[in-house]
Amino acid sequence: MKVRFWGTRGSIPTPGASTVRYGGNTACVEVRDSTGSLLILDAGTGLRELGASLMNGGGPRPFSVDLLLSHLHWDHIQGIPFFRPAYDPKTSLRIKGPKQSRTMRELLGLGMDDPFFPVDLDELPARIEVAELDDGSDEQIGRFRVRAASLYHPSPALAYRLEADGQSLVYATDTEDPFSGRPNPVIPLAMGAVWRRRRR
Ligand SMILES: [Zn+2]
Repeated sequence: MKVRFWGTRGSIPTPGASTVRYGGNTACVEVRDSTGSLLILDAGTGLRELGASLMNGGGPRPFSVDLLLSHLHWDHIQGIPFFRPAYDPKTSLRIKGPKQSRTMRELLGLGMDDPFFPVDLDELPARIEVAELDDGSDEQIGRFRVRAASLYHPSPALAYRLEADGQSLVYATDTEDPFSGRPNPVIPLAMGAVWRRRRR
């Protein structure tokens, strides 16, 4: 697997001289398996640049994108309206995230409703499917096996373990509460994760 960080910040984008090294965008990570199959973790403002790189990159089209959301705080979803491939009717975008008290599609649409944004989620030209995952979910998403575990964080939030090509990685952003004494589901999720950096 190959990993590229397009957004590393929490809460709010932080452009400026002091954040040049890792960039000022909020959470977004590109993961590729050995065949180049794409899975995106979180849709913070870094998603805009990832989308631009897909559009300019000359990679395989039409775009087929799986996007996993850890949770729905702004810094993890604000890139969605600015993801250029979502404006291409040939794009297929499958979004999954933690089950909430209302459907994920309804909640994601709220931030793009008039008067907050000029284009509604349902007006985006891409074919968009939205589904929910739960603590303990274990399913094949594209070429990745994806397991989910609850994060201690306000509102439903999930950590993900991805497995492909005999490697595994765990994405557990925003995790909290390490000292409460309660068992933290992220620990068994991350147990035995194996990452081997390929020699060039
Ligand atoms: Zn959060």
